[in-house]
Amino acid sequence: MNVHQLEEEMKVTKQHLALLENQLKAFQEKCEHHFEGDQYFEKCSKCHKVEVLYY
Ligand SMILES: [Zn+2]
Repeated sequence: MNVHQLEEEMKVTKQHLALLENQLKAFQEKCEHHFEGDQYFEKCSKCHKVEVLYY
């Protein structure tokens, strides 16, 4: 694999990742969250969205 092929592969992979992230975001937006966790953070057991309570 040469540099050009590597760059092309990275570009395609990034686009694919962005697509997957959008799908996850859409899923999390319509999820009826069921959060579980402790006093520092909680995580939805359905969509795995994480809410940080204290930084
Ligand atoms: Zn959720």
